Amino acid sequence: MTVEAHKETLEFKAEVSQVLDLVIRSLYSNKEIFLRELISNASDAAEKLRFESLTDEQLLEDDPHLRVRVLVDKDAGTITVSDNGIGISRQEMIDTIGHIASSGTRQFDAAIRATQGAASQGAAAEGDAGHGDATGGEAAGEELIGQFGVGFYSAFIVADKVTVVSRRAGLTPEHGVRWESDGRGSYTLETLEKPARGTDVILHLKDDEKEFLEPWRLRTIIGKFSDHIAMPVEMEKEDFGSDEEGEDKDKAAKAPEFEQVNKGTALWMRNKADISDDDYKAFYKHISHDFEEPLAWAHNRVEGTNEYTALLYLPKRAPWDLWDREQKHGVKLYVKRVFIMDEADKLMPHWLRFVKGVVDSDDLPLNVSREILQHNRKIDTIRGANVKRVLGLLESLAKDEPEKYQEFWGEFGRVLKEGPAEDFQNRERIGGLLRFASTHNDDNTQNVSLDGYIERMKEGQKDIYYITADSPAAARHSPHLEVFKKKGVEVLLLSDRVDEWLVSHLHEYKGKHLQSVTKGKLDLGDLADQEDKEKTEQAEKEHGDLLKRLKDSLGEQVSEVRASTRLVDSPACIVVGEHDMSANLARVLKAVGQEAPDMKPTLEVNLDHPLVKRLEAESDLNKFNDLGMILFDQAQLAEGGQLDDPAAFVGRLNKLMMQMFMSGA
Ligand code: ADP
Repeated sequence: MTVEAHKETLEFKAEVSQVLDLVIRSLYSNKEIFLRELISNASDAAEKLRFESLTDEQLLEDDPHLRVRVLVDKDAGTITVSDNGIGISRQEMIDTIGHIASSGTRQFDAAIRATQGAASQGAAAEGDAGHGDATGGEAAGEELIGQFGVGFYSAFIVADKVTVVSRRAGLTPEHGVRWESDGRGSYTLETLEKPARGTDVILHLKDDEKEFLEPWRLRTIIGKFSDHIAMPVEMEKEDFGSDEEGEDKDKAAKAPEFEQVNKGTALWMRNKADISDDDYKAFYKHISHDFEEPLAWAHNRVEGTNEYTALLYLPKRAPWDLWDREQKHGVKLYVKRVFIMDEADKLMPHWLRFVKGVVDSDDLPLNVSREILQHNRKIDTIRGANVKRVLGLLESLAKDEPEKYQEFWGEFGRVLKEGPAEDFQNRERIGGLLRFASTHNDDNTQNVSLDGYIERMKEGQKDIYYITADSPAAARHSPHLEVFKKKGVEVLLLSDRVDEWLVSHLHEYKGKHLQSVTKGKLDLGDLADQEDKEKTEQAEKEHGDLLKRLKDSLGEQVSEVRASTRLVDSPACIVVGEHDMSANLARVLKAVGQEAPDMKPTLEVNLDHPLVKRLEAESDLNKFNDLGMILFDQAQLAEGGQLDDPAAFVGRLNKLMMQMFMSGA
């Protein structure tokens, strides 16, 4: 029967051609990777079919030997990467090949422009992640691209036209599709008959890329990049002439012979001793579509009642969608070498979502589904062990290669900070991996560990002190730190959004309480000398009248006014109750549109401060009220807070200045 050839021309979604230009430009110095990307896709497609065929054997038709083939046609000037895998339906063609996730595209575009801008200005890019060398735009592009998954489009590095011919497994031959594009904004899509299921990606090479028509060149590339993948990659036997080989003509008569050109054994099943670092790195690139090398990896085989192999990698760089709620997890699940699923989020908790790798179980049933994974004891055990392995990997990195760990922290630290809230059992170990900015350092790099802090604790110091604020500068300059500075006590400066979440779950580390310096009555324990304490108590008594007048004046805005033990240079500060939400968290919640309880803060005043002394002497009630309000508003501002009525604050300040000028001061 004939199928109506239904041909249409469609526009690419998003700024595809723009991104293509960037891809081509940034990957040009490393153009052979196009083959790795296409072989990876083809191998994934074959693995998906193998999995689906477990429940529907018919899908294999009469062609059960799954493989990827790389074919060269010198006369036509084409390379074809062909697989007999799952194939692509017409709609999938539109959804996947014709579409680069538009948010990713835009972010990639923005990211690469930012890097190029920075590089061309010669800006000494001193990012806190510390990726040393400021690379030029192109190298930066190469690093960035892996974060955005533009794998298929790498074909356009060497081709000026790409044709994809595919037929979805399970559909009849007349449901084939042919996609074609020069990568410039549109593509054509037509229906055609394709007897063999699977996908052929045909690259029409650019004139100056004909070197890739040499089979030995392709074999070398495959050996370099795709040796380790679990799928056989085949090429035509060398002694076969390529002349007169029409694409579809005389197929039966002149069936070419193929031979496998890669090892084609699952890397993770090989003996550790036989795997080189380069093998591990190449395999990482295959599974992650990352263009960069991994930072570190762990490869373990577990024997016993729950046998499995895990090969887990830490990437060097955070993917662009790390903060996307839909962000994909990077661990693939295999059962007895059969690929089961991508993004197996049950194998790794959310706070380790950046880990990539493979888990291959010998004991799970092959027909395992996502539902089964939800409540499977074996999976829970594997997941628990995976977490411990990653923690171990991070611990040794932190200990043996601190610079590398710092690099990791810059990329993924904020994700790791979600750990203590999510994983009670490993809280202490995660705590040991955390890094913070601190008053111990002059800059705001997050490189202080809790252990380092504990070592530096003063004699008599019981708690680990920290402050949360919405920027490192606000934290560092908060009036709350004054007494700590005076006494030389270190305070951790927390200003990532996730920090509030972190400290609300990490109350203790190695028996030391984590104490916010903005909460409750400051109890410096043995740090406060007796003299100080007595002085404050004495002062409270002596100046009780002032404190009461201020409370009366501020009324319901504050819960209490008291003498401060925290202040040295500032006249006043805001304090919340030990168990109240911090002012910073309340701001964070409001900023994201959530409700935050209206709390009445305590105002602490520095009775030694000249302004406070001046206030005490003020007998005019109106002036006293104005000054009191200014003191209160100032204290809120100094913490990065917002005033309910900023105009009123400015009005009062101006009034005060006018009085100052009038009196000739
Ligand atoms: P990624 O692989 O990172 O998703 P690609 O651009 O390489 O990005 O591929 C996009 C999608 O196109 C794939 O996820 C897959 O669904 C589909 N695809 C690409 N190549 C093939 C193939 N040979 N067979 C089946 N599907 C494919």
